[in-house]
Order: sequence, then structure tokens, then C-alpha cells
Amino acid sequence: MTGLDYKKYYESEEFCRECLDTDSEFGALYTPEATIFRTWAVKADQVSVCLFKTGTDAEEGAEAIGVYPMTVGTEPGKKATYECRIEGDLDGVYYTYSVWREGKEQQCQDPYGRAAGANGLRSMVVNLESTDPAGWKADKKWKQTNLNTSIYELHVKDYSFHAGSGVSEKHRGKYLAFTEEGRAKEHLKKLGITHVHLLPIYDYASVDETGSEMQFNWGYDPQNYNVPEGSYSTDCYNGKVRIGEVKQMVQALHQAGIGVVMDVVYNHTYASDGAFHILAPYYYYRQQADGSLANGSACGNETASDREMCELFIRRSLQYWAQEYHIDGFRFDLMAIHDVETMNRIRRELDEISDGKDILMYGEPWAAQAPAMGEGVYPADKANLGKLDSRIAIFSDDVRDSIKGSVFLAKEPGFVNGAMGMEQQISRTFAGWGNPGQTISYVSVHDNYTLWDKLVLTLTEGSDFDTMDEQVLDANKMAAAIVYTSLGTPLMQAGEEFGRTKHGDENSYCSAPQVNCLDWERAERFQKLTEYYQGLIAFRSQIGLYRDKSRGAAERMHTCATEDQLVIMQADNSGSVGDKWSELYMICNAGKDSREVRLPDGKWEKLVDKNSSMLWKKRSLWSRITGKGLNYQGAVSVPEHSVTVYGRKGGK
Ligand code: CA
Repeated sequence: MTGLDYKKYYESEEFCRECLDTDSEFGALYTPEATIFRTWAVKADQVSVCLFKTGTDAEEGAEAIGVYPMTVGTEPGKKATYECRIEGDLDGVYYTYSVWREGKEQQCQDPYGRAAGANGLRSMVVNLESTDPAGWKADKKWKQTNLNTSIYELHVKDYSFHAGSGVSEKHRGKYLAFTEEGRAKEHLKKLGITHVHLLPIYDYASVDETGSEMQFNWGYDPQNYNVPEGSYSTDCYNGKVRIGEVKQMVQALHQAGIGVVMDVVYNHTYASDGAFHILAPYYYYRQQADGSLANGSACGNETASDREMCELFIRRSLQYWAQEYHIDGFRFDLMAIHDVETMNRIRRELDEISDGKDILMYGEPWAAQAPAMGEGVYPADKANLGKLDSRIAIFSDDVRDSIKGSVFLAKEPGFVNGAMGMEQQISRTFAGWGNPGQTISYVSVHDNYTLWDKLVLTLTEGSDFDTMDEQVLDANKMAAAIVYTSLGTPLMQAGEEFGRTKHGDENSYCSAPQVNCLDWERAERFQKLTEYYQGLIAFRSQIGLYRDKSRGAAERMHTCATEDQLVIMQADNSGSVGDKWSELYMICNAGKDSREVRLPDGKWEKLVDKNSSMLWKKRSLWSRITGKGLNYQGAVSVPEHSVTVYGRKGGK
């Protein structure tokens, strides 16, 4: 059958009636007495389970155990559902499916599998309970205490690869690095962020798990969605080790008061001819009119969230990570490849988990190329934001580009690095672009230049990324101050707080770990900048306004002035219990001269300025000692290249 034949078949009534099986659970369903293997294979002549002692043939003790034919259902809806029950305790046994179609046999791992051997080539039957670290059940009850969410985007290997991380050599670059105390962990805790958002930790294909530690990839190339990546585990051969170690990582972060967001890439698979395709040709992928694969991901295919079994797979996979691994949020890569209805359904289903409403959902509201969706199906992109659940947020490229310039044009600046005429965009950035609940505010993530590199390229003549240039430092502080005093949910790339550089590497997805990793010596050198971020994050968590994710929240942020590289905002922070300031006044001066500005009537305290983001702390200490605030009124001078925040208590 051709791609077009399959397409027609999938769109037929016969297929929907006979083959769509949204009730059955798929995978290797383990009990100590027996394991039921159940899979979904379309138009196959025969499917069998093949059992093995090891995850690959290259290992010691490798041996095939046997081949067990599966039985296909006969009832309507079950005619593509294959099943086989094998007696005995199969915990730790590896398996593949053998699929016969049109006279040819192909083998694949189980796309529904929850454990796998080295490089994810064979799945593994697993007794999941045996992978739980001590105290894991209690971990389920972890709750975020600082409700002013602030997210830190981090790659597992980047975190601890550098010797200065304080992590023992055997755990550097591994999940278990997060279980160790030391410089890196201390840094995370002190920074005050509420969540780390980890770049892909599901099993991806581009790193040979049995190979050198000097390999690196971001991991946007899914191999097994329900299995953790093996190269971050201390033993990629034993399928249980990576599962237990991810759980230990999550537990350790929770114990440090930090939630874990997982970067998920359901929009495409690394191989177009892998397990999905072997079991159900073309089904999990969108097809062009001629039956060929659509390619909205620019990676060779795009998944079809608008096809039932594919949608079901994605929904169940997310449920699984949330429940089994206690994941606190999901970041959807190329979310515009998924349809709005699927995303909203995912939201509703996550909400139903105990404390599931706390699970964060946000994504990239774009695709690499326009996805091939049918009529009446809406991509989860910026244009359809209004159709998305109000608790699904999107990365705001408007925030990003207005603050520091386009990601596509290296030399193009934004507001903080000298662009003229950006005042309106900055005022809208403060207001969360009219929809703070759905806006992720950020200036840098793993893609494109780091913030520091971008600022060096736009503000200096050369490309010296290591000198602590004053101008660059000022612009960096301004960018941070705008993000952390704006509505929307702030997110930053790990290391942004200490001037992270990749020395001009704009797309480091497979660059050396030395280029990508967090340089903990640089972190020490840039300690002052880190403190500036710390102060902003701590300040933000005092302010009730920033917890307001309602559609009306933007009304609380008023524009007072937007002219000549000057933006002045007045924010209404009244009505929140325990808040120290009922109003905030933000003055952003991106110009090269200081400016005189008149504060609105009344007495104001200075909370943040160019040199310190912790004045608010000192001021309250001062107030406690003296019984009065250090007040400002009337005209104040605002230095060049700075953000200053004033606060006023209730009344005037
Ligand atoms: Ca892998």
C-alpha cells in the first residue's frame, strides 16, 4: 500500500469503525504473575513479541528468549489491537515487536514502552514500583510555596559538566548531579527561581548512550517518548537505572523547593520510519494530499494530533510523566504543530490529577513550516491564542525582540541596546501584551545568541565576550529589570544571570559540552549580576500584582510616558494581602543621558535602581529601625541606561 492508500483508509468509515481503539491500554502491562503485551498495528499480517535478556546484542549475556505470536481482536474497534499474555515475572526482560506486512518483517521497540535498553532500541518490561527512591510517595505531595512563578531553562548536562559545579566527577552531566549539594545547587537555591525547565529528558536519538561523554545534543529528536534519556544516567544498559535516577533528580529539586518542567517534543519523531511507522504506516504523521509526509517541524515529519490514536498517545504520555515522575509542568516544542482542541483537552485532563491545576503548560506558538492541518482544525499558535485555554501560555517573541532586538538579525538592537522607537512595545511588554496569563516573558533561551552575546554584538565593535563591559552590563540589567517587573511569567536561560556566553555560537544544539555548559568560574566573576537577578526575583515574589493571571490583569498596568527612549509605567498593586506597596512606578531610561522625572504626588520609596535591586529590602529595614520610610517626592533624576522602581504605600 502507498502513503495515499493509507491516507484514504485512515479517512474511511471502515477504519474508524473497525480499528480505532481508544479504550485499551497499550504497552507491556506488568504484574508479578504475568505481563500482557498490547499494541496497535494497522494492516499487519502478523505481529509477535520477541523477548531478550539484554537491551542490545553487544552486551554480555545477550540471548534471545523466544518469539510469541500476538492475537488480533475480532470485535469492531479492536481489529488493529494485538495482544499476548506471557506468564511469569518478566520485570527487567527486554522486548521488541516483529511486524509482518506485505511479505516483509520489520522489528521495532514499543513506542508505548516505559523502559528501554541502551539507545532505546529494545523496550523493557518494568515493575515501576521497584524504581521508586525512598520517600517517593511523599514527594507526590510537593507544592510550590512561592506562587510568583519564575522559570529557569536548563540542560541536564550544562548544569554540572564544568568541574567548578561542585558535583562529583561520576555525576557530572548526569541526572544525579541534582542530588548533590555544592556550588551549582547552592546557586539554584539562592537565585529564588520556582521551577527549572529541563531541555528534553525523554529518550532522544542523537547521542550514542554507549559512547563518549564528550557528545552533546539539546535532545529535540525523540526516540522513545515514555522513557528517560539514557546518556544522563549512570548506566544506560539497565533500563531501570535511568527511571530511578530521574525520580531522584525530581525529588532532590523538590526538596530544594524547586518544581520541574519538562520540555516535550511530541511534534515530530527523529526517525520517520521508526516504531510508529512500522506498526501503523503514516498514521501518527500528517500527510500531504498525495499521501507523503508533511514536514511542519522541518525535521522530516510532523505528528498528527488531529488523528485520534495519535492524540491519545500524547495525552496519555503527559499523564504518565505527571503521575509517575511528579512533573510540575510541560513546555511544548513547536506547539503550533498541535491543534488547539488537543491542547485544551490535555489541560483539562492534567487538571483532573490531584493538584493538577498547578501543572504549568506553555509552548512555542509557532512551527518551523506551516503544519498540514485539515479544515476546521486550528494550530495552537499566536493567532489562535484566544481559542486556547487561558492557562496555556506562549513564549512571547514580542517581549524578547522588543527588549533586546531580533533573533534573526544579529546586529539589530532592541530597547535596552539602543533601538529608537521601541517605547510602545516596551509598555506593552510591561502589560504582558494585553494577556499576562498567557505570556511567557523572556529575553533568552537555548536557541539563538545568549543575551550576553547578543548585547556584545550590538553594543561593542568587536566580539570580546569575556570582558565585563559596563555598557553591556547595564543593558543586561535593564533587560532583567523589565522582564521581572512586567506582567506575564518570567523565564530565563540558565546562566543569563551571570552573563552566559557561547562565544558567539548562535546554534549550539550539537556543539561541544565545553561551549554549552554553565561556566561556574564565570558565575563567580559575575556574582554582582547574579545578585541583581536575585534581588529582582525576590522583589517580584513580594508583589501580589504579579500573581494575577486573570484576563483583566493588564488593566492594572498603566502607561505614563513613552518617548525618546523613556518608558514610565504605573502599576496598581492594591488589594493583595500583606503587600507593602499598593502602587509601583517604573522608569526605564534607555537613553545615554540621565533624565529628570516628576513622581506622581505623594511619598515614594525607591525599591530598585541601576546599582541595586535590593533597595526594597534595605528600605524596609530602615523603616523598621527608624519608624519612617526614606521618601522621595517631586522631581527625581534617573540615570542613563537604567530601570528604577519606586513604590508607594496605600493613600498619599
Ligand atoms: Ca537516547
